[in-house]
Amino acid sequence: MTGPAGRAPDTNWAGTYRYRARRWHRPASVEQLQEIVARAADVRVLGSRHSFTAIADADELISLEELPAPVTVDRDAGTVSLGGGTTYGELVRRLADEGLALANLASLPHISVAGAVATATHGSGVRNGNLATAVAALEIVTSSGELVTAARGDADFDGQVVGLGALGVVTRITLDVEPAFEVRQHVFEGLSWSALTEHFDEIVCAGYSVSVFSRRLDAVDMVWVKSRLDEAAPAGLLDARPAIHDRNPIVGEDPAACTPQLGRPGPWHDRLPHFRMGFTPSAGVEIQSEYLLPRGHAVAAIEALRSLADRIGPLLLVCEIRTVAADDLWMSTSYGRDSVAVHFTWRRLPEDVAAVLVHVENAFAPFGARPHWGKVFLADAASIAPRYERHADFVRLVERSDPRGAFRNAWLETSVLRGT
Ligand SMILES: Cc1cc2nc3c(=O)[nH]c(=O)nc-3n(C[C@H](O)[C@H](O)[C@H](O)COP(=O)(O)OP(=O)(O)OC[C@H]3O[C@@H](n4cnc5c(N)ncnc54)[C@H](O)[C@@H]3O)c2cc1C
Repeated sequence: MTGPAGRAPDTNWAGTYRYRARRWHRPASVEQLQEIVARAADVRVLGSRHSFTAIADADELISLEELPAPVTVDRDAGTVSLGGGTTYGELVRRLADEGLALANLASLPHISVAGAVATATHGSGVRNGNLATAVAALEIVTSSGELVTAARGDADFDGQVVGLGALGVVTRITLDVEPAFEVRQHVFEGLSWSALTEHFDEIVCAGYSVSVFSRRLDAVDMVWVKSRLDEAAPAGLLDARPAIHDRNPIVGEDPAACTPQLGRPGPWHDRLPHFRMGFTPSAGVEIQSEYLLPRGHAVAAIEALRSLADRIGPLLLVCEIRTVAADDLWMSTSYGRDSVAVHFTWRRLPEDVAAVLVHVENAFAPFGARPHWGKVFLADAASIAPRYERHADFVRLVERSDPRGAFRNAWLETSVLRGT
């Protein structure tokens, strides 16, 4: 836990949610963790606190910071195994030493792997699944205190990976790895809105990972194209011009916080995230929301958004559009469909943001939008459940894994479970 030493943090990273926890635990062994969990009536693990909702809250919160967390590489299996409190920033250092890589990363390395996986956190790329799709195996302490293991191919595994913290404490995660690769990052500025809507597929296919940024929803500020060195990088992008200086996704924020651009080749972990470890990612003072829709509806959804530009504009720091490949993980926001992810970084004005989200969610409803589990949304479980084909299976899995409901917090009940 990243609060002052010996003191638990009061709020999430953004300072927008105050934890109600009355007890904090820092087990130093799996055995201690098992005892804590078996005794607790209402408990959760806190990851790196980057969610914007009550998803991580409970009467008793557990930090895995003190738990021994060796990183072990299995070259024959093509995997790396790590502790449940490890951040991507810590993991990539070790992988870099081993000449290995993950297929993708989110916009920042500061987040915990287990917390990211639990909420289907994603980067971008039409061929890249979200970060949870890299999970090959899990070790979980369930509410009985038992340590269970699950591996890809097991009956319930596809339901356990994006677990929303509802199935127990993930103590270890095994991820797929591949040989290290290099990436170069080009930023293109001033793409017209008509070029975006008329050539959407061409734009999102322009690199390994592509992000489109806009503040006003009538023009595109920037398109960030991350290309692997073994693939061609675009020399130009429609009517946009190549940036001649490094940029921050939020116009006016310091580019020093960002990974190098201007086509300079570098290691995967220093190009795939937008932000660098050791710097504040994004704006800091903010709220985030995001919705994932079928990629085939991307242009219609973007046009629907544009019609809300006057309402959205005053609250918006930046909107980011990315793509995520389909997967089979039951509660993944990309389950069964190649997706476009429409993200909003809002000014930290919670009531105004809630008011505008009513309009955003109405506009996206015809497309079956699935809200990002770690960000602010209004939809309740009854409206979300029909958007997940395996929702009923997940509810049964939660009941089997946690029959006494120790991990069932209020957020889970209202946003996920009460839908069937
Ligand atoms: C600046 C910023 C940038 C972001 N960028 C992206 C992005 O690029 N893409 C994207 O998709 N999302 C992004 N997010 C959202 C973020 O990735 C998710 O909120 C993610 O869940 C954060 O992980 P965490 O460890 O901080 O989670 P927390 O908020 O600490 O916890 C989230 C959930 O995970 C559970 N959990 C954590 N650890 C464990 C464990 N060991 N076992 C069981 N459950 C566990 C918690 O109980 C809780 O239910 C961003 C957020 C911020 C603040």
